[in-house]
Amino acid sequence: MNDFLTIIGAGLAGSEAAWQAAERGIPVVLHEMRSVSRTAAHKTNNCAELVCSNSLGNNLPHSAPFILKEELRKFNSIVISSGDNNSVPAGSALAVDRDLFAKEITEKISSHPLITLKREEIVEIPEEGPVIIATGPLTSPKLSEEISRLIGQEYLYFYDALSPIVDANSIDYDIAFFASRYGKGGADYLNCPMDEKQYYDFIRELNAAEKVPMATFEKPVYFEGCMPIEVLAERGPKTLAFGPLKPVGLPDPRTGKIAFAVVQLRKENKESSAYNLVGFQTKLTYPEQKRIVRLIPGLEQAEFFRFGAIHRNTFINTPEILNNELELKTRPGVYFAGQITGVEGYVESASMGLLASLSAVAKIMGKNYSPPPRDTALGALINYLTTSSKKNFQPMNINFGLFWVKEMKIRDKKERNQKIALNALEQIKKWREGLKDSIGSAA
Ligand SMILES: Cc1cc2nc3c(=O)[nH]c(=O)nc-3n(C[C@H](O)[C@H](O)[C@H](O)COP(=O)(O)OP(=O)(O)OC[C@H]3O[C@@H](n4cnc5c(N)ncnc54)[C@H](O)[C@@H]3O)c2cc1C
Repeated sequence: MNDFLTIIGAGLAGSEAAWQAAERGIPVVLHEMRSVSRTAAHKTNNCAELVCSNSLGNNLPHSAPFILKEELRKFNSIVISSGDNNSVPAGSALAVDRDLFAKEITEKISSHPLITLKREEIVEIPEEGPVIIATGPLTSPKLSEEISRLIGQEYLYFYDALSPIVDANSIDYDIAFFASRYGKGGADYLNCPMDEKQYYDFIRELNAAEKVPMATFEKPVYFEGCMPIEVLAERGPKTLAFGPLKPVGLPDPRTGKIAFAVVQLRKENKESSAYNLVGFQTKLTYPEQKRIVRLIPGLEQAEFFRFGAIHRNTFINTPEILNNELELKTRPGVYFAGQITGVEGYVESASMGLLASLSAVAKIMGKNYSPPPRDTALGALINYLTTSSKKNFQPMNINFGLFWVKEMKIRDKKERNQKIALNALEQIKKWREGLKDSIGSAA
């Protein structure tokens, strides 16, 4: 094993990973292909370029994205400190001047005495580890092939087809009922019944709703099972009622009657604190998703943990192939970090860079490492990535539905979230102190 760390990709995750290792005294060789080869979305050669929005997400105290950023601040994250240094006014969000942000990171990375930034496209994964693969949703095609070979073709995906996820506390249980189709396998699904008028009103509004156009490099090639609901609705007014909204085998246990159509919701976690709308992958704009989903009986007050989306995104089946240190189960020493692991978002990607780096650094130093506790934002993400269903694994951003929460009898949402936030920050401090004793800290 090498006494230095190899990292492929100097995006959000790769830059964070390089910084964390180098600040702990470990030499890093960081490979970045931009300047010799391009991606379809990046426009500059800067490290950590933000490809789309300039927002690092909600910064409102006690929101889930805030907790994640705050935890990263405790590790002197290069991504968050450069975000804070180059912020622009954006209400409750941490938005940044994207050029200054990326320039600061590029400058810090390229002038660090322990980081060698090599401008080249990597097409083969180095034999000798540790190596972190942080090549993002737009991993170059040749390296994608190599990753496929390494992990098995069936574990690498190229599209996200995400359904919205709603807060269980916001569902009206006087309308929604628990049942499985034909009573098979226990009452695992929540079902929102629609009568004929409600269904056709819903279809009319869905057809008229505003959709996000596909970027030119996002070829609209859908797998039949991942069709957006609005595309299905365009095929004919009854298509959804015979497809994902079919009511057969789902009589309402309270009346014994079968509705005209049924929207099914599936549990998103063991705690049943979040539900996803089955088959509801969509390209509607976020405000329209809110409006359309709230037309469904039982979801009139729905609060969203995640909106639906469909976009080009290379990611791996993390629960199947990585352990909770983000290391390949079949080839120790090979780590993955960033969006390719199945997290969504700039800050989530940087977070996985931090965690993969800490684990790889501990390996190089011959020290023990264990992942952050589940009641922290970092731990909640790792837990999601590594214990989710292997069959239905889908990318995820940070949200309260992922946190492990001790039995809490607080109904007020704000108060509850404050408690979760305070606890998370306390736990992450303890975890950081433990790590500091073994592998040191970032200055
Ligand atoms: C079009 C698009 C828009 C997005 N918009 C947003 C948004 O608005 N907000 C948000 O929070 N998230 C957004 N995301 C999701 C995600 O947060 C970003 O993609 C984020 O940059 C992911 O971080 P990363 O470090 O995993 O990958 P990246 O930041 O993409 O970094 C990967 C790096 O690896 C390099 N690389 C690729 N292949 C090779 C190779 N073979 N050899 C060497 N280097 C290589 C790339 O050039 C790149 O610099 C978007 C994603 C896409 C694709």
